[in-house]
Amino acid sequence: MVRFLATFILILGVSACGRNHAPRQASGAAPSARVAVSQSSSNFDPKALAKSLFGAKRDATSQPPAPYGGYAKGCLAGGAQLPETGPTWQAMRLSRNRNWAHPDTIAFVKRLSAVAARQPGWNGLYIGDMSQPRGGPMLTGHASHQIGLDADIWMLPANNLSLSATERENISSTSMRRAKGAYVNSNWTRAHHEILKAAASDPAVARIFVFPGAKVQMCNDEKGNRAWLRKIRPWYGHHYHFHVRLNCPKGASGCIEQAPPPAGDGCADAQKWVNDILNPPPPDPNAPPPKPRREYVLADLPNQCVQVLSAR
Ligand SMILES: [Zn+2]
Repeated sequence: MVRFLATFILILGVSACGRNHAPRQASGAAPSARVAVSQSSSNFDPKALAKSLFGAKRDATSQPPAPYGGYAKGCLAGGAQLPETGPTWQAMRLSRNRNWAHPDTIAFVKRLSAVAARQPGWNGLYIGDMSQPRGGPMLTGHASHQIGLDADIWMLPANNLSLSATERENISSTSMRRAKGAYVNSNWTRAHHEILKAAASDPAVARIFVFPGAKVQMCNDEKGNRAWLRKIRPWYGHHYHFHVRLNCPKGASGCIEQAPPPAGDGCADAQKWVNDILNPPPPDPNAPPPKPRREYVLADLPNQCVQVLSAR
C-alpha cells in the first residue's frame, strides 16, 4: 500500500519519462481557471490545452533563463539550444526539436559527455529528449521535461559522432535489461557504471532514473564511495536511456524543487523493486483505482508561463 501510494504520488507529480509515451487523451472541459492568468495581458485562452500552446513554439524566448513551476508542470524562459553536434555529443531525433534546456542543463550535458568520451568504446554521448524551446507539456511523450532541467541520455555507446540527421531519426538505442528490468544484460558495461556515477556525483544533479536491475548492479559493483548511489533512483522503463534531473538553479525562485531522495544509498529499496519484478506481489484489494490524469490547460501552469508564451 505504501509503495503503491508513493508510486502513485510520483506518477502524478513528478514522474519521469517512460510511462507516458503515448499521447494522453484530453478529458473534457477545462476546470475553473485561476484568476491571475485572465488578468494578464495575453491573448492566450487560459482554458487552452497547454501542450498545444507550448508544442507549437519553435524557438526560445530571449528572457533571462528561468524555470517556472515543477518538472512535470511548468515552463522555461530563456531556454538554450544544445548544438546538434559537438566534440563529444550528438543530439538525437532532431525533428522533435527537444534539444532545448536551461543553460545549466546544457553545460551539464557537455561536461558529462566529456567524461563519457574517456570511456573505452565511447566517444561521447547521444542526447535524447531535453525540453521544448519554451518547455511546457508536450504533445507526445513525457509528463516531465517541462522546465528545462531534465535530459534523457542514451545507453547506446556514442562511438560515431558523425551521424546524419536521417540516421539520428532512425537508429535506436539499445536496451540494457533482461527479465523485465530485474537484471542488466550483456550490453551493460563498466563504462555505463562510470558514466552514471559521474552524472550522479555532479553537484548540479538532483536524481537519475534508471531501471531497477541497473541500480542493483551498480550497488553490487561499487567498492568505493557509495554516496552517489543515493541519487540513482529505480524507475519504470529507462533501459534504453537514463534520465538526469537537475536541481533548481541557484536563485531560481519560481522553480519548484522535488524532495531529495531518502538518506542512504537506496540499494535495499532497489533490491525490493527487483524482487517485486521477479515475484510480483498480489494486487492490494484496498488500493484506490488510479485517477485518470487531466490534461493541463494554460491556467494550470504558473502565471509566468503566459509571459513565456508571448515573449520574443
Ligand atoms: Zn526522460
